[in-house]
Amino acid sequence: MARLVMKFGGTSVADLDRIRNVARHVKREVDAGYDVAVVVSAMAGVTNQLVEWCRQAAMLHDAREYDAVVATGEEVTAGLLAIVLEGMGVNARSWQGWQLPILTDNAHGSARILDVNGAELIKRFKDHSQVAVIAGFQGMNKDTGRVTTLGRGGSDTSAVAIAAAIGAERCDIYTDVDGVYTTDPRIEPDAQRLKTITFEEMLEMASLGSKVLQIRSVEFAGKYKVRLRVLSSLTPPDLPVAQEATSGTLITFEEDSDMEQALVAGVAFNRDEAKITILGVPDRPGIAYQILDPIALANIEVDVIVQNIGRDGMTDFSFTTHRNDLKKTLDILQNVCRHIGAREVLGDDRICKVGLVGVGMRSHVGVASKMFRALAEEGINIQMISTSEIKITVVIDEKYMELAVRVLHKTFDLDQPQRP
Ligand code: ADP
Ligand code: ASP
Ligand code: MG
Repeated sequence: MARLVMKFGGTSVADLDRIRNVARHVKREVDAGYDVAVVVSAMAGVTNQLVEWCRQAAMLHDAREYDAVVATGEEVTAGLLAIVLEGMGVNARSWQGWQLPILTDNAHGSARILDVNGAELIKRFKDHSQVAVIAGFQGMNKDTGRVTTLGRGGSDTSAVAIAAAIGAERCDIYTDVDGVYTTDPRIEPDAQRLKTITFEEMLEMASLGSKVLQIRSVEFAGKYKVRLRVLSSLTPPDLPVAQEATSGTLITFEEDSDMEQALVAGVAFNRDEAKITILGVPDRPGIAYQILDPIALANIEVDVIVQNIGRDGMTDFSFTTHRNDLKKTLDILQNVCRHIGAREVLGDDRICKVGLVGVGMRSHVGVASKMFRALAEEGINIQMISTSEIKITVVIDEKYMELAVRVLHKTFDLDQPQRP
């Protein structure tokens, strides 16, 4: 029988009524003949609460204990959904990460999945038609056997990894919106649902901060060719399967699609970033390395990097990091500055990133100038620019974020009905 992974996020399992609704979605697919593995998130708000408790317990806490605490949210939901399914006459059992196991590396708090053993799930599908309800977001450290978590939003990645491990026909990500939109519908009410989006575009959208899918889940799906769909859990669960199958957004492989690609698929943004500028840096070989190597060694991710043209042997050097890493980065750079003889380090956490994404940009010119003109007409100053083949990102003052998103959305006609 064909296998299916269904993943339900926090809002979809926010209370017992929603969990019952989820169970009906699962039963519909079981009745349609699928062997189903369900991956669940913690109930809405629970992970935030658990994270906050760790922070209040001690600002600097052991990441292994943080994982022991925050992994519990998903365990509650998995057990509850299994109970509800059993009550509806569906054979089901819950699974925690270590029980499969889902093996990860040892980067507690943001671990990467190394291997998922789907053998026991497949055996139970065959022998008992049993639905597997799996706690998302968690795994087991392959060296120590301790519980790990996969970074915020990590249940998406659990779902895709399990889909790859059991050879699922599809991985359906159920959430509180009915697909991937041209931008976050919370910011732009005129955002349009995309019926399809390519992997490359989805990767760039996720890397820019569209949290509808965790970026690692998209990477995983691309690598293992998992068919991925995003759809709403809030639709009636008794929708006929055929109709269900056409809703949501399908993430497609570009080479499989002969459709003419739209110029711009969407606008994404991220306000969790900070900008660091080092002034008066001696302009000589090896400087970028001397600045960024200690940052990399501290496991801090760096994004947009800009170095100005030197004058009189001096230059300025800027880059962005996650806002949570700003203080740590500045501390490291104080030493680096002394060492290389730079004048001053400045940190700015009132910036944001806004970007346009679209595979159509590969074959079109003029997208960047159209984007910059639209921002200029609103008096929005661009502080940094970075581009890839299918993405243009700008760093601007965070107070203009929503305005920039709306203006770009309109400029590129994204408020009009999208691809067929
Ligand atoms: P879940 O709890 O189901 O994992 P998330 O909150 O992680 O859900 O992701 C869904 C949210 O992602 C939506 O409510 C929406 O606000 C946000 N989002 C951001 N960008 C987009 C986009 N381009 N399309 C759809 N949703 C988006
Ligand atoms: N519960 C976790 C979080 O809130 C994981 C997830 O929902 O994907 O980040
Ligand atoms: Mg999520």
